[in-house]
Amino acid sequence: MDLRDRPEDVRFRDEIRRFLEENLVGEFAELGGRGGSGDETYGFDVRLRWEKVLAAARYTCLAWPTEYGGRGATITEQVIFNEEYARASAPGRVSILGEGLLGPTLIHYGTPEQKQRFLPPIREGTELWCQGYSEPDAGSDLANVKTRAVRDGDEWVVTGQKVWTSLAHQADWCFVVCRTDPDTTRHKGLSYLLVPMDQPGVEVRPITQLTRTSEFNEVFFDGARTSVDNVVGEVGDGWRVALATLAFERGVALLGHQLSFRRELDRLVALAQQNAKASDPVLRQRLAQAHIELTIMRYNTLRSLSGVDGPVAPPEASIAKLYWGSWHQGLGELAMSILGPAATVLDGEALPENHGYGLNEVQRSFLFARSETIYGGSNEIQRNIIGERVLGLPAEPKGTA
Ligand SMILES: Cc1cc2nc3c(=O)[nH]c(=O)nc-3n(C[C@H](O)[C@H](O)[C@H](O)COP(=O)(O)OP(=O)(O)OC[C@H]3O[C@@H](n4cnc5c(N)ncnc54)[C@H](O)[C@@H]3O)c2cc1C
Repeated sequence: MDLRDRPEDVRFRDEIRRFLEENLVGEFAELGGRGGSGDETYGFDVRLRWEKVLAAARYTCLAWPTEYGGRGATITEQVIFNEEYARASAPGRVSILGEGLLGPTLIHYGTPEQKQRFLPPIREGTELWCQGYSEPDAGSDLANVKTRAVRDGDEWVVTGQKVWTSLAHQADWCFVVCRTDPDTTRHKGLSYLLVPMDQPGVEVRPITQLTRTSEFNEVFFDGARTSVDNVVGEVGDGWRVALATLAFERGVALLGHQLSFRRELDRLVALAQQNAKASDPVLRQRLAQAHIELTIMRYNTLRSLSGVDGPVAPPEASIAKLYWGSWHQGLGELAMSILGPAATVLDGEALPENHGYGLNEVQRSFLFARSETIYGGSNEIQRNIIGERVLGLPAEPKGTA
């Protein structure tokens, strides 16, 4: 793959730059690129308005096929868009779960009616989604899902508990993996339901994170209802659809993260230069190593996404997830070393009601990165996949309990 911009790439890059220069003004510019992972509550209303500005110019859902309102953007175009977006410090996106996870899943597995009903509001930024997979006893072992749905006339009635549900408090809809056949266990008899959040049978309880924000939640379904038309794929075939969404999740993460990582690394180099840590030989080595590894990450990402049309298949997705999650945690530790004792001082914005000061961007990223080797499949699970599917090691022994 030739990594240099071709004439059409240069044109596309110019177009994005112009759009951002003209539109990233006023309240949008004031956000200073905030609102990403670990910072999702920041400037939410402004970011929602920004989503609509992007949508009006057709810069949401770039990768979707044109028949569904996307631009059918190539991988190169998506990379260019993300690079320019990160470079301009544009606001953190609010609709990543709809655009990157549910949308592609519906495009592959949804009925024409589901596509017509659900894709336009995702593209326009008017409906937000959350992902209802994990439960207290079903995280890595997702097939252990116990939330159940029982058919009642033209509706499914959903009962059970989900946990760690990111952005459930802001979502209009949730894609829920639940058991529709009570006589089955494991991955058989599961279905993939689209459930509206604004109804009496749904309760969302925030969980406070290490970053002191609450981006994920417990979600309790107690007789929540959704139409029988809102099953994606066949009833009982939800496992296949759920895995496809996970593969999209890993593909999206591949692209999105490493571009903002470059900005973080550049900021660390600038910090080290300011506080004279740039002349510390060990820290210089670690910064250079971080740069090398990030460059490898970029090339690997481009390689594994080239020619992919649909979910990114394991094991590439697992290798990439293991790599970026661990790399970013390491970068956070390096940031703490560069800050030195100043790392322990809270000097972010003043918190309301005299609650002191918040985390600054470097501290927030360091703390949030602890979760990156857990969500989207933990490091241990990725190693199991690589061990079994790449190295051909025997399958891990299953417990007998
Ligand atoms: C920031 C964040 C956001 C999240 N957002 C969402 C969301 O929006 N929707 C959603 O559904 N979920 C979400 N999750 C949940 C996430 O998917 C789970 O945390 C993850 O799948 C791990 O499951 P668990 O927490 O139940 O841990 P467990 O599965 O109980 O694992 C505990 C530990 O045991 C290890 N382990 C488990 N099984 C094995 C094995 N077979 N071999 C070796 N080691 C093993 C794990 O690696 C881990 O270290 C989020 C999590 C985080 C941290």
